[in-house]
Amino acid sequence: MPVRRRLIAITLMAFWVLRLPMPGNALAAENRPTAFIHASLIPMTTATVLPDQTVVVEGNRITTVGPSGTTKIPANTKVLDCRGAFLMPGLADMHMHLRYDWTSDAWPVSPLKLYLANGVTTIRCFGPSGKTGRYGLAWRKEIDAGRLDGPRILTCGPALRGHFKENPEHIVIRQKYQQFDFIKIYSYVTRQEYHTILSTAKALNIYTAGHIPFQMGLDGVLAEGMDEIAHIEELLWEFSGMDRRRYFESEGEWMAYAIQTTFSQFGPLLELTPHEQEKKMDNLVIALVDKLKNRPIPVCTTLVIDDLIVQKLFDPDGFLKRPENRYMPLNYLEQFRMGREKHQLQFKGGEVFAPFKYMLDKKLLVALKAINLPLLLSTDAGTGSMGAVPGVSLHDELGILVENGFAPYEALAAGTVVASTIVKRMNGEDDFGTIVPGKRADLILLEQNPLHDVANTRKIRGVMAAGRWYDQQAIAQMLN
Ligand SMILES: [Zn+2]
Repeated sequence: MPVRRRLIAITLMAFWVLRLPMPGNALAAENRPTAFIHASLIPMTTATVLPDQTVVVEGNRITTVGPSGTTKIPANTKVLDCRGAFLMPGLADMHMHLRYDWTSDAWPVSPLKLYLANGVTTIRCFGPSGKTGRYGLAWRKEIDAGRLDGPRILTCGPALRGHFKENPEHIVIRQKYQQFDFIKIYSYVTRQEYHTILSTAKALNIYTAGHIPFQMGLDGVLAEGMDEIAHIEELLWEFSGMDRRRYFESEGEWMAYAIQTTFSQFGPLLELTPHEQEKKMDNLVIALVDKLKNRPIPVCTTLVIDDLIVQKLFDPDGFLKRPENRYMPLNYLEQFRMGREKHQLQFKGGEVFAPFKYMLDKKLLVALKAINLPLLLSTDAGTGSMGAVPGVSLHDELGILVENGFAPYEALAAGTVVASTIVKRMNGEDDFGTIVPGKRADLILLEQNPLHDVANTRKIRGVMAAGRWYDQQAIAQMLN
């Protein structure tokens, strides 16, 4: 190769190497506007597609939306031709968990990148691992400043699980002033502790969400006024015959008691014919959901976990063959092969209850939707301990909602426009989930229309998070 050509090649290669994803490099915020032109727009304000639209983004916000023929694009704009593609708001996983090891090599790909690559631009953590959970707040800062790739992070502090070593009032006050977004309450909190937590949170005007504590039950929670329920499956404990005055010194004993009293309630049902089973369950579900008719408390769906439990117990080979396993922590799959995975242990000897529980949760989903309760798209992923792959599992959840009677638009709304209105109750900002001027520039560009087939949310041509654009090449690089 002549010297001159070789020099050029080396220079080009050096340039290329410098552009490889060093921390923070791919992300310098666009300091010029971006315009998506000729897009089929799914603004999520209604269940329609607007043909041939232009969306202009400046900084991290959408500034203009209008027909491509008449919408002016500012000078010096980076233009993305979206002919044939569909532009929709980025998705939110409204119940997941941050783990301190996300940026370590415990994960083949950091979940922060997995979320982005899958079009998930907002994540809301229902309890970060670790003592203080403050790394989540630090990541949020780094992402907001454009120094780290990742979705927008909303998070509570470490969950208030019960068996407190200090007055829970102090924990609520501390988490509020540490800038956590809400307080997460867990199953083992006693009545007195629950009352303290709720009254402190109300006085400080901080949002509360969580499990239905065993001592409280749904009636108790509704009476005290918790803002949100963490899972549909929390309602299942209402079918248990548990004595709500009981107290146990350990979490293990408490959970064993709850499971045992619930299973023994359902045991006789399993003797009935499927038709009789269905009828009995329908009546139970209707009576329960009736309590929520005039109480529009949001509930996170997290049904993909039920789906996974059934697969793990009844089709372990199929589970091990999932292509997305390549993104799970290696030690997780090892535990699974040895039969020591969380749900393998939890359902040991009671495997038959898993599909039954899933069926009940699906019935609850349908009944809650029928009374227009705000349902929030969510997966419980992120812990690395249950098999739900961050980002990928949110698309599974969408599929489950549609299989159970949601129109694709309704399923997508649970992770966009509805999610944002609930976040407003939490932090006062309704700033994502639709494509209108003023909203965050969190967008997904899709090959095909997700309102026809919700699985089309997997066919991603590019993702914009807070105004930063990741094309297919950038996404492939993140997943590498
Ligand atoms: Zn959770």
